[in-house]
Amino acid sequence: MSIVQHLIHGELVTKGERTADVFNPSTGQAVRKVELASRATIQQAIDSAKAAFPAWRNTPPAKRAQVMFRFKQLLEQNEAKISQMISEEHGKTLEDAAGELKRGIENVEFACAAPELLKGEYSRNVGPNIDAWSDFQPLGVVAGITPFNFPAMVPLWMYPLAIACGNAFILKPSERDPSSTLFIAQLLLEAGLPKGILNVVHGDKEAVDALIEAPEVKALSFVGSTPIAEYIYAEGTKRGKRVQALGGAKNHAVLMPDADLDNAVSALMGAAYGSCGERCMAISVAVCVGDQVADALIAKLEPQIKALKIGAGTSCGLDMGPLVTAAARDKVLGYIDDGVAAGARLVVDGRGLRVAGNEDGYFVGGTLFDNVTPDMRIYKEEIFGPVLCVVRVSSLEQAMQLINEHEYGNGTCIFTRDGEAARLFCDEIEVGMVGVNVPLPVPVSYHSFGGWKRSLFGDLHAYGPDGVRFYTRRKAITQRWPQRASHEASQFAFPSL
Ligand code: NAD
Repeated sequence: MSIVQHLIHGELVTKGERTADVFNPSTGQAVRKVELASRATIQQAIDSAKAAFPAWRNTPPAKRAQVMFRFKQLLEQNEAKISQMISEEHGKTLEDAAGELKRGIENVEFACAAPELLKGEYSRNVGPNIDAWSDFQPLGVVAGITPFNFPAMVPLWMYPLAIACGNAFILKPSERDPSSTLFIAQLLLEAGLPKGILNVVHGDKEAVDALIEAPEVKALSFVGSTPIAEYIYAEGTKRGKRVQALGGAKNHAVLMPDADLDNAVSALMGAAYGSCGERCMAISVAVCVGDQVADALIAKLEPQIKALKIGAGTSCGLDMGPLVTAAARDKVLGYIDDGVAAGARLVVDGRGLRVAGNEDGYFVGGTLFDNVTPDMRIYKEEIFGPVLCVVRVSSLEQAMQLINEHEYGNGTCIFTRDGEAARLFCDEIEVGMVGVNVPLPVPVSYHSFGGWKRSLFGDLHAYGPDGVRFYTRRKAITQRWPQRASHEASQFAFPSL
């Protein structure tokens, strides 16, 4: 069985350490193994990055951007191959995999603007013969730890910008679907990135802990589940590192009585069941304002959920593939059992789905619950599967209170034709990313991505302008060039104009 190797100092390396199986979730078969780095291997990657950093830091930003331009081209040329690799290990459909890659490429495009983004700020004559400016300087060695659900896009949120800003980057991808992530990193080296500026090390908690504890690693970007995000934030900041740790979610869509219901239903189908619900921005709760809206919504959703085309992600023309692992499938099935036991009405039951020819795949069909209440586990917890819960409320205020009281605050949206309601929602909702008639309001690359509450630990969001701030530190320089033959007397009072 082939092995997914580390990429250290420009070379693919096998260490012969611990390994984990990587599965094709559509067949349930182990297709390859992935190396799990020891602390010594992580240190080797850190040493490589540290050695490569000084020259890269001093490489003109425009030259760094040129590497990103070539990287973008290579990514586009390899779209079909990358989509196939994603789909084979993650299970998402080929079209969905191509979509995540395109959104990742957007972040490479943003990083191409490094010379503009790093220009800094300049003020002339802040005092007599004194000029001042702020520099954006790279941090040094920085690291990223990424989840399974976007093996291409989420790493691309991080390292193109970090590297364009002049840092050296160590990436620890998800051990569940590492192949596309590694291949994409190799393309950046092919684009001309010097050895050591991007190292990819696979692994689990041991590798992550080594990155957290290493004093050479100045910043950590994390995307994954909330318990691990909180752990990484606490342990990283305790050691004086800069940390942005993005966690889990429970995203609500509010349906107002005046919503364009057919369009809302189309939007909800994609947002709830696309990628089998394994998106941190997936809509998992539909909050219906009034029973009429709820009844009409369920009447329209039910046949469409039953008609979802589900199969191996690598087949064409499907709506949904399997869940990523057997454990993920069992967890989702457990939640469906739990919802039934708690008294929610199971309108469409995705349990027991058999996909002909792929009987051992980790499939769960689209599932819909009605009459879900806030005390139920299926409402409170992130299911991360193809399960949509309908909660009935009587007013927009009640809908907003529900959302604001939820522990997560990643994404949300409102379906309405009422500008006043939409405006109130945008103003008062305690969620980081808000859509108005947009079900998955994932910001474009020149804005920044991040949730509120327990969906993000840290101050700066991912990518975009916040990403530039995160991967650079400011230096404020104040410079005086006295005029010839002038003499400044000592000044004992605090300098001011
Ligand atoms: P996960 O937390 O299990 O794993 C994420 C990363 O952490 C992986 O690289 C993994 O190897 C590492 N890891 C796992 N256990 C660890 C431990 N005990 N100590 C240190 N590191 C550990 O998440 P996942 O299952 O891969 O991804 C799904 C989760 O990610 C969901 O909760 C989803 O909402 C979230 N997510 C959030 C966003 C966002 O932007 N907020 C985006 C994508 C995914």
